[in-house]
Parts: sequence; structure tokens; C-alpha cells
Amino acid sequence: MGKTTKKQTKYTSRAQLLEDLFAWNDLFGPATKEEQYRESFQKIYARLLRSNGDKLPIAGFIQKNKLSQAEVWLLLRVSLLHLKRMLPSLYEIPALMKAGEVIASNRELVSILLDRKSALFTEGIFALVGGRVELKRNLFIIPTIQRKKVQTKKRVLNPQRVLAQLNKYVIGQDEAKKRVVAGVFEHLTKCARAKEGQRFNKNNIFISGPTGTGKSYMCECLAKILNLPFVHADASQYTQTGYVGMDVGDILRPLANEAKNGKLPISIVFIDEIDKIRQGSEQKGGAASTNVQAELLRLIESTFYRLESRLPIGKSVCKIDISQVLFIVGGAFENLQVKHADKAVGFTTEPVATNRILTADDYISYGMMPELMGRFSYFVQLKGLKKDELRKILFNPYNGPLQQYKELLHTSTQVPCEVIEHLLNNACERHLGARGLHQQVGQLFQEAFLENKVQIEI
Ligand code: ADP
Repeated sequence: MGKTTKKQTKYTSRAQLLEDLFAWNDLFGPATKEEQYRESFQKIYARLLRSNGDKLPIAGFIQKNKLSQAEVWLLLRVSLLHLKRMLPSLYEIPALMKAGEVIASNRELVSILLDRKSALFTEGIFALVGGRVELKRNLFIIPTIQRKKVQTKKRVLNPQRVLAQLNKYVIGQDEAKKRVVAGVFEHLTKCARAKEGQRFNKNNIFISGPTGTGKSYMCECLAKILNLPFVHADASQYTQTGYVGMDVGDILRPLANEAKNGKLPISIVFIDEIDKIRQGSEQKGGAASTNVQAELLRLIESTFYRLESRLPIGKSVCKIDISQVLFIVGGAFENLQVKHADKAVGFTTEPVATNRILTADDYISYGMMPELMGRFSYFVQLKGLKKDELRKILFNPYNGPLQQYKELLHTSTQVPCEVIEHLLNNACERHLGARGLHQQVGQLFQEAFLENKVQIEI
């Protein structure tokens, strides 16, 4: 019975209703299917009554005039026959009555068709012409709307507007934000051109900067603004294929369900903690970090990637097109930043932000594979957040930590100034950036919970 058996769907569009009506083939089937016929009718009738009259004229008409089942049946049947061009707009009463007997008693149909008291006649839907019923006005069926493809509006993206949006969430890091937005737009443009048949190399992005300064947050916010799927992966979680642990290919798994015709959607994959797999660093299960780097290189440079299925029985490998996936890798490279700070301002153990732009060579000397570094065309460097910037983050009305807790607890409690100063000074001293700020505000509110200052009803 096609779609008519789908449960509890409300009709919100004519097209949907039409589809169901077309699936109602039994309407024209042999009389032996009477029961089925009646059942189908009941379902459509019930759905019409539940549907939204404003959006579907036929439902509005039925509700307004409180049509009986027999009347609804007539309306549907005549309109359908008309639509299918199986009959002209004039219908022989005996033929209509014969088909209608299944739903309504003969008497009811006679009164509808001949006594003309029904709203179908008084509202000018049907007219009686000699011994025949004429369909004067079709309430819901316009042949041209049949299965017309809904055209999805193309979005026009403007980098300046996107940047302005990003500025609301990510405080400071102005230069980095610009470069990341430019890199992502370059990728989007390439994906659009690739649909026209042109081929491009990907412009993957490499971000370094102290912890908690917005490396991953910036990318996640940007993906949200652009409505792109986003995956956050931690490079230190992966091991060389064959070793215990997750394979590099697992990074793509969250996107696998969104693949269409074997191609992953335009998306951003952020691989964090890349500095943790520098050459010589310890790896779980003894796998060499350079081998994990080599596997990341294979992932990042590939157009197609062979992803192993995780079926309980047996193995299968599928080849997916990952040309639309933009890879952004990030890492703190703390020692590297400090080393340059040392060179710049003399010997100091404080990780002072350096003005020097780190290059691929710096990262190679740190222990990254030259081949891997060769796959990035954008190098972006984030700075340590200053106290002023941390203050802005703290009070950011969009998603600042204070705002988040206030919303969570439905409270407008003001945090005293000296507490704020203490939080900010602490965050600066601990060099944990905005992450440290979030942790401290979290602790503050946890104490409030425990001291019973916050009460919640559930
Ligand atoms: P990392 O640089 O280590 O990747 P994250 O981007 O994960 O740090 O930041 C941790 C959290 O700190 C984020 O979830 C966000 O709430 C906050 N945050 C970090 N940097 C900023 C920033 N520049 N502006 C606003 N919030 C930030």
C-alpha cells in the first residue's frame, strides 16, 4: 500500500498528499479488494482531518464544511480521476455511485449527488449537469506540481561576513582568524570548481600556538558558521596500522555516514596534538611516531582513501573519495615557541610569545616529517592570550564561561570584581589560556553548588 501505511504522517504539503494518493492504487482495483479499499480510505481520511488546513486547501475545506466520509471520498475520487486524465470533468452518476458503494451507503451517495445539499455543491466544487456530476473547481490538485524537484537555494558566502561572525566567538587572534578563513574559502572555491571538472591540490592548514588559545575552537566555530561537518581528532590517539589502538583512517569514520556516492561531503577535519607525534616521542604499544606521521601524510595527500569496515565478521575495504575534506592540523609546539622566545629576549624560562613567524623548517627541526610538512600550504600561528583578551572571553555574551554558567543555572548573580581579577591573574600565570579560565569558572560554580547557593528543580 505504498506510503499510505506509513504511520501518523501529517500532510504539510500538497505534494506529499499527492504522493500518498497516487500510492492508493487500489482505488482503481477490482471490487474484491473492498476491505483494503475501505481501510486505505479511512487512513487518508484520518490524515486529512489531522492535517493543517492552512497549508492544504482540501483539508481546510473538509474541516470547515465538516464533510462526511462519503463526501470526502467523492471529492478525492473525482479529483484523482480528473488528475489522472482518466475521465473528463463530467462523471456519470451511476458509475460514481457504483464505485462509492464500498465507502458509503447508496442512500448517502444519492443524497450527495442528487439532493445537492452537500458543501461540494453549495460551495461550487461540483455541479450537476443533466444526469452527470461536473467538477467545477479542483481544490488541491494542480497537475504541474506533480513530483516537482524542490530547488535548494544556493548560499552565497562572503568571507568578510563570515569573519565578522567568527569575531563574535573567537576573541583576539585576528591575523590567524583571517588566514584560516581565507584557507577555508580557498578550499570551498576549489570544491565548487572541481564540480565543473577542474582538479586542484588541497590547501591544508597547519596551526601552532600555546594551549587554550583557540586552535581547535576557531576551526569548530568556523565549521558551524559555514554549516560544514566537523571532526576533531587527537593525533596522539592513533597508532601505526597493525598495532593495538586506533588507525589513522578512523579519523574519517564520523563522516562515513554522510558519504554520497562514495564521496565524503565538504568538511573540516581538525587533527589536534600533532606535536605529540614528533619524531622520537613515545607511542602507545611501541609504534614509531614517524610511522604514524607517514600514515597521516597518506591520509592528508590522498584523493581516495581505503577505509576498512568494522564488521564483526570478516573484513571489507571500501574506497572513499576524500577530496572535499579539508585537513587542519594543530599543536602547541611549546618548546619551540619558548626556544624562539629565548632567542628573542634572552634566557628566560617563561614561555613568552614570539613575534617571529615559525616556518616549516622550524617544525621539521622539532621532529615533524619534511614530507608531511610539504602538504600544508597555510601556516598559522596563534599567540598567547593577554589579560585583556581573557577578560573579553570571560564576559563574552555569546559563549563566555560566565555566560555559559549563568545560562545553565538561570542566574544573574554577579561575580565580585576581586574574584574576576583573581581568575584572570591565575589564568595568565598558569599559561592555560582560555581553557584555564573555563576550568576556574567551573570550579567556582562547583563550590557554589556544594555550598548550596544554587538550587535546581528537576
Ligand atoms: P587549543 O588552542 O588548545 O586547541 P581550544 O581551542 O580547544 O584550545 O580552546 C579551549 C576553550 O577555550 C574553547 O572551547 C573556548 O571556549 C575557549 N577559547 C580558547 N581560545 C579562545 C578565544 N581566542 N576566544 C574565545 N574563547 C576561546
